[in-house]
Amino acid sequence: MLLLLGALPVCADEPFSLITLRVRAHLVRSVAHPRLQTTLTDKEVRVIFDEVNAIWSPAAVRFELEAIDTLQALEIAPKRWFIKDRDWVKAAIPTQQLSATAIDVCFVKDMGPNGFFYGEPVVVCQNPEFHKVSGGTANIVARVTAHELGHVLFLQHRQERTNLMASGKNGVALNLREITAARKRALEIVAKH
Ligand SMILES: [Zn+2]
Repeated sequence: MLLLLGALPVCADEPFSLITLRVRAHLVRSVAHPRLQTTLTDKEVRVIFDEVNAIWSPAAVRFELEAIDTLQALEIAPKRWFIKDRDWVKAAIPTQQLSATAIDVCFVKDMGPNGFFYGEPVVVCQNPEFHKVSGGTANIVARVTAHELGHVLFLQHRQERTNLMASGKNGVALNLREITAARKRALEIVAKH
């Protein structure tokens, strides 16, 4: 006789329960620095997040887009545009306007890296440079967004060609170790928010 008191049996092939993380998308605006000003529309951002959620569906992690707003960049001193400009881009983001209860994702038009995350916000470039791999997504901005959200979930780079966490490619694959680690961090974020 099998008694189940307060615990459900777990099978290896049982689907993961869905974890939902709230996200705020910010369309960066800047007259002083036009390369920061994205031309993406609300509709395009929604399509991007539909694809992000398709990419993350094997982990049953869903990024719920609770709002899309515009974010006026700070008028910091200009800087010559070069490859490692992420610190300058981050310095232009008015962090006090970011959400305390959602993951912030800022979209800019042009920058050296395709995207970055080293503490919020996530910043994504709408014109990323990448190499195509088999099975990769056609929505490259979604891929960059999904990759940076992987960093939010504490995933490191893994330079296998078709992997989501490879640099500068459009692959979307996640392995079980990454899925397990990302879900653990996602649950911590849910508890924190
Ligand atoms: Zn990365």
